[in-house]
Amino acid sequence: MAEVIEMENKDANQANVESGMTDEKWQAIIHNDENYNDQFFYAVKTTGIFCRPSCKSRVPKKENVLIFQNAHQALSANFRPCKRCKPTGERLPDDDWVTQITEYIDKNYIEKLSLETLSEICHGSPYHLHRTFKRIKGVTPVEYIQQTRINKAIEYLIYSHTAIADIAHAVGMPNTAYFITLFKKKTGYTPTEYRLLNFGNNTSEVKNSGSQD
Ligand SMILES: [Zn+2]
Repeated sequence: MAEVIEMENKDANQANVESGMTDEKWQAIIHNDENYNDQFFYAVKTTGIFCRPSCKSRVPKKENVLIFQNAHQALSANFRPCKRCKPTGERLPDDDWVTQITEYIDKNYIEKLSLETLSEICHGSPYHLHRTFKRIKGVTPVEYIQQTRINKAIEYLIYSHTAIADIAHAVGMPNTAYFITLFKKKTGYTPTEYRLLNFGNNTSEVKNSGSQD
């Protein structure tokens, strides 16, 4: 009998069992409770970053959080240490941090992104993010976001018949007029002109020429 009851409880708590989350741990995370720092680490699936409970980074969505007993486990699961709370005890190299950020942009360019939201997600100040990113990538984070979106738009233009307004939406620029203006600034053509000239061509992507802004 006891076994049956236990199994039912397991089913009910399936989601919690898989993530390792408990109410106690969740409270520790949302209150940045440093008393739990040697007890567990938490990783956020959407950012690929893991933290100490005390980290002052913004509170993630609970369903995106995974719990790890130690930093090694989180690293083995391909999470990267947070730049702010340094869960491995070592400073995260700037190169790795910038890789973290570019990967996030590559996956989330459809979302609303700004220097501020990126810096919250990637756990650094906007100023530091801007400077470090530019030094390593040669372009600012905002330029990189634009470049990613324009390159994605080029794929739509030359390999699909998707309408311009729908492309603008699909690449995270729901304001079509702004999308057209930016596209022309970056490529020299309007999206319609670009499609007429290049449809079906295996054209290489736009290379960002640096900061023209
Ligand atoms: Zn952190």
